[in-house]
Amino acid sequence: MPDDPAVLPAAPVTKVAGVTTGGAYELPVYPFVAPAELRGKMGRHAVVVVGAGLAGLTAACDLAQHGVPVVVLDEDDTVGVRGASSRGICYAQKSLEIFKRLGVFERIASRGVSWSVGRTLAGSDEIFTFDLKSLPNFGASEQPPFINLQQFYVEWYLVDRAYELGTVDLRWRNRLAGCAQQRDGLMLEVETPAGRYEIETQWLIDCSGSRSPLRSILNVPVHTEHVVDRWCISDVRFKTRPPAERWTWIQAPFNDDRAVWQHLMADDVWRLDYQMAHDANPEEFSQPAIVADRLRRQFGADVDYELVWVGPYSYRGQCLETFRVGRVFFAGDAAHVMSPFGARGGNSGIQDADNLVWKLALVLEGKAPEHLLDSYDAERRAAAQQNIRITTRTARFLSPQAPMDRLFRDAVVSLAREYPFARAFVNTGRLSSPTHYQGSPLNVGEGGGRSLQNIALTLPDGKRGDLVDLVEYAGYRVLGLVTQPVDRYFAEELDLLEEKYPVRFFRLQADVGVTSAFRTVVDPDERLAAELGCDGPSTSLVRPDLHLAGTLDAAGAPDIERALRKLLALT
Ligand SMILES: Cc1cc2nc3c(=O)[nH]c(=O)nc-3n(C[C@H](O)[C@H](O)[C@H](O)COP(=O)(O)OP(=O)(O)OC[C@H]3O[C@@H](n4cnc5c(N)ncnc54)[C@H](O)[C@@H]3O)c2cc1C
Repeated sequence: MPDDPAVLPAAPVTKVAGVTTGGAYELPVYPFVAPAELRGKMGRHAVVVVGAGLAGLTAACDLAQHGVPVVVLDEDDTVGVRGASSRGICYAQKSLEIFKRLGVFERIASRGVSWSVGRTLAGSDEIFTFDLKSLPNFGASEQPPFINLQQFYVEWYLVDRAYELGTVDLRWRNRLAGCAQQRDGLMLEVETPAGRYEIETQWLIDCSGSRSPLRSILNVPVHTEHVVDRWCISDVRFKTRPPAERWTWIQAPFNDDRAVWQHLMADDVWRLDYQMAHDANPEEFSQPAIVADRLRRQFGADVDYELVWVGPYSYRGQCLETFRVGRVFFAGDAAHVMSPFGARGGNSGIQDADNLVWKLALVLEGKAPEHLLDSYDAERRAAAQQNIRITTRTARFLSPQAPMDRLFRDAVVSLAREYPFARAFVNTGRLSSPTHYQGSPLNVGEGGGRSLQNIALTLPDGKRGDLVDLVEYAGYRVLGLVTQPVDRYFAEELDLLEEKYPVRFFRLQADVGVTSAFRTVVDPDERLAAELGCDGPSTSLVRPDLHLAGTLDAAGAPDIERALRKLLALT
């Protein structure tokens, strides 16, 4: 296993053309090991994941933690994109909570940059400022609103974790080339440096990114939106540090009145993103001399910096018409692609995996029917569509094409300088936040679908923990959080439900002093009770992905059982 990532001293970039530069980071290279199938051993696997990017590695680690062995195929042998800079930089609270459960949060937090303040400028006027920590939808979690970290570090930590878990069979330089659906499984064709082989699996999660081969193999219709907007990344290390805040300019005088992003990542590297004119030549725009000129205009003539990486990019919007074809699930960029505004791409892929894995694990355990898996498409395709809608609106604001869009944008910018009401329309990216599955077929009551924050609690063993710890404590079962009294008779009924269904019940109470014969979780400030919407005696069912399935007022055991059966797609 490689050591902790080390960054080479940034070499001055001499050759800049498209995405062919880079090399300022030393990334690990994982060995190709000839798989058992090449030695004639055929087995049937429970799950194969194609693609060891953010989505695939999250799914693999999560499956392993649920006790499901998994094979991961990746055509490459490293993390990140070879020769290019980091793509993603911002990881949102919901993803950080998932990473805590997967055991990589501490590494991410200690290398990354935690931030919550964002400023939006037009010229030299600051027209909008926020501090995410003060917002109720970010403030209750044990994880910060955002951490910035180069994407390859996150992938690297997940690879380390996958090796550590021991049941993830990571197969580097294994390229998926074919997939045939069988009656109760799939036969995959894989190319390796040592030849081709076939592998049989019950389920497949396609996390192979925006060029997924499975989309065409399985003929999945894709809705695509092409965009003309183009940007240039300049990753830079400064001798004097700007503040660790997210700054965005809608109109930056130092970029000919076009948009600019400024964000700190790990290792003191700043991500500066410059919007280009539509007729700009991307290669010319990315020349070190031109970059240097822009940096001098932005930071002053004596700016002292090292260029870590520079290169142009463009984006598009894409969404598959279904995220499930028989035994194949699409997740991450394989399922949906969106503009980077608001950091929704990678974060939503991580959340796709989080949504799918607990369901798949229950199906493989025989605790829920295959029908439960249909909710993955219902919930995550709706999330993707919402994310694409939101990011497309930002793109229209930042790069207005239609005269009406331009008029609107210019009016907002000019009004926002003076009037607070107009600041709500300033849109340089609505930051990634979890999707609430309001229309989900698995919802069973009040508040159904709401994503819960990782709130601090005292666990039944008296240890300080949080909601993520409670999910682990409960063995990834559904949580039944009871605020109504649990007498001996009711406790026996709950025990019976635990025997029949994958659920663990806990009495939720605010006061440490109150003793209860039943397993107790202390919610000292009643923050969790507030999130669950409990304003009286109730039972809340919480899914292992920390979405509330619903809160039932003063429900008896038969009502709770009915709700559980709906949540597990048993009815
Ligand atoms: C400039 C930019 C900035 C961004 N910023 C952010 C951000 O701040 N936050 C955020 O959340 N997202 C961000 N994104 C989006 C994010 O980078 C992507 O959404 C994310 O990389 C998608 O992850 P994935 O695992 O789905 O796919 P990928 O990361 O593309 O991984 C796919 C994997 O599949 C493998 N593969 C492909 N084909 C095969 C095959 N046939 N067989 C085997 N393996 C195969 C590849 O080698 C690769 O490892 C940004 C994107 C860009 C371009």
